[in-house]
Amino acid sequence: MSTPASTAPSRTGHERLARRGVMMVISSPSGAGKGTLSRLLLDSDKEIELSISVTTRGRRPSEVDGIHYHFIEKSHFRAMAENGELLEWAEVHGNFYGTPRASVERALAEGRDVLFDVDWQGAAQIRERMAEDVAAIFILPPTMAELRSRLHRRAEDPEDAIERRLFNARSEVQEWPRFDYVVINDDLDGAFADLKAILRAERLKRDRIAGSVSDFIERLLA
Ligand code: 5GP
Repeated sequence: MSTPASTAPSRTGHERLARRGVMMVISSPSGAGKGTLSRLLLDSDKEIELSISVTTRGRRPSEVDGIHYHFIEKSHFRAMAENGELLEWAEVHGNFYGTPRASVERALAEGRDVLFDVDWQGAAQIRERMAEDVAAIFILPPTMAELRSRLHRRAEDPEDAIERRLFNARSEVQEWPRFDYVVINDDLDGAFADLKAILRAERLKRDRIAGSVSDFIERLLA
């Protein structure tokens, strides 16, 4: 668990209390818009950074190694899992995905927020291990037809992979009770506004700022 750094001014200029970092976990069935929403959040808010996962999946044409994922061989993945280097890992749609532990611990220790784009199994594991630091958000598509058309529009996966993802989506959506928040992505701007609101509120949670509130109160009353 990280300890709060000193009280620092926020980007909006007003004083904010030092706090532990937020572990913002975003999950959804493939194609529900989680990737786009994550990117919008990371671009608009410099206090949160992405946890870059390792995966054994092949790289898509649009992806860059070390930015979207660290693409690694199965043997390397297995070694990382066995050596305890992964905070969580899961098999999703026939490939392995995992969250490297070291970079997350470093960010949280420095009071930075971390965004996790993981499936529901990863979300459940992270929550189990670091419950008090986690805000877990489940993004849902408005309809299954929309999910299908988004996967086709993305045109990054072969047809059989799209069908597998759609089939899996039917059971993945049943996992919603594991999450703290549910956002329906029927309108990107609205869903993005919801995400920003969740992050903003999470940053103000009493338990997250507890370490510095008492100092603040002391100064307030001095
Ligand atoms: P994609 O192949 O479309 O990039 O990702 C497939 C699924 O794997 C997505 O639901 C994504 O959130 C999930 N995923 C990506 N990285 C991780 C990870 O490190 N751990 C887990 N458990 N799931 C991940």
